[in-house]
Amino acid sequence: MALNATAAAAAAAHGTAQQLYAHVDLSKLGWLEQFWAAWYIWIDNPVIATGLMSFLLHEIVYFGRCVLWIIIDAIPYFQRWKLQPNKIPTPQEQWECTKQVLFSHFTIELPAIWLFHPLAEVLGMQTYQVPFPSWQTMLPQVAIFFVFEDMFHYFAHQALHWGPLYKHIHKLHHKYSAPFGLAAEYAHPAEVFILGTGTIAGPMLYCYFTRNLHIFTVYVWITLRLFQAIDAHSGYDFPWSLQHILPFWSGAEHHDFHHMAFTNNHSTSFRWCDRLFGTDDKYREYRLRIAASKAAMKGKSKAEQEAAERQLIAEIEAEGQRAEAVAEGSIPGDKTVKVQ
Ligand SMILES: [Zn+2]
Ligand SMILES: [Zn+2]
Repeated sequence: MALNATAAAAAAAHGTAQQLYAHVDLSKLGWLEQFWAAWYIWIDNPVIATGLMSFLLHEIVYFGRCVLWIIIDAIPYFQRWKLQPNKIPTPQEQWECTKQVLFSHFTIELPAIWLFHPLAEVLGMQTYQVPFPSWQTMLPQVAIFFVFEDMFHYFAHQALHWGPLYKHIHKLHHKYSAPFGLAAEYAHPAEVFILGTGTIAGPMLYCYFTRNLHIFTVYVWITLRLFQAIDAHSGYDFPWSLQHILPFWSGAEHHDFHHMAFTNNHSTSFRWCDRLFGTDDKYREYRLRIAASKAAMKGKSKAEQEAAERQLIAEIEAEGQRAEAVAEGSIPGDKTVKVQ
């Protein structure tokens, strides 16, 4: 049973966090809900409790998921599914990347997360309350956040490819033409802020209009969104990857092309925006060329097949480097190079 916000504010103001749950029989709740209540009682300040939990969740999920990909990068068996073969990140690259990611986390995300609780309260979002909503309530909400973020990201990401914004902000994220898990949030702090808006504005707007959202649902969404972003940068396309089960899911294969070719595929989770607006033409052409090359090389040795594929990838990457130089204004563009 949830208390109203006024009672919560009064209880918090008097430092009696235990009163938040005065009318709730905690013993009847699940272990996660009991832990949740114990956390708010222990911290004794809902603003700090929410801020700290949000930051810890983000760090644990982000680096926890990245560790999985660091391990996969270290096992040669998995390299057969690497999208850009022979481009395994070195430990130095991974460490450089980690430092930049931590810098963004502490300069942009930490202050933003700290402001989250007061904003959530204004919007009527439930925070300390238990029990959590049912999965039937959470599922459609998370689905809406996925769709909203994907569309927001599609347009914001294209804007970041516009010359001045690219040169001063988005270029950092494009440092790696063959990305790896940790590179998901390797970005300029301004980019973290701009694109992070797509992740958080969905729940904010939803809560504003419906007044029915628990922060636990937001945590589920953010966890899934982080998995999506990290996996899309992993550089691997396994036969069991989600995009082979859900054909509209973008996955690593879709986003890897964006890094390699510097064009097309601007969305995050789904393929439909790029298909609808025709910004996947070069990507689809590339897939056809890869398929044609495989068919032509049938019967040839494995080494010859791999060499043909590497040649094709090198061509696409060279085109991408030229398109990037045009976007930055370091070489003039011509009609044959369309920067998107
Ligand atoms: Zn980009
Ligand atoms: Zn990326």
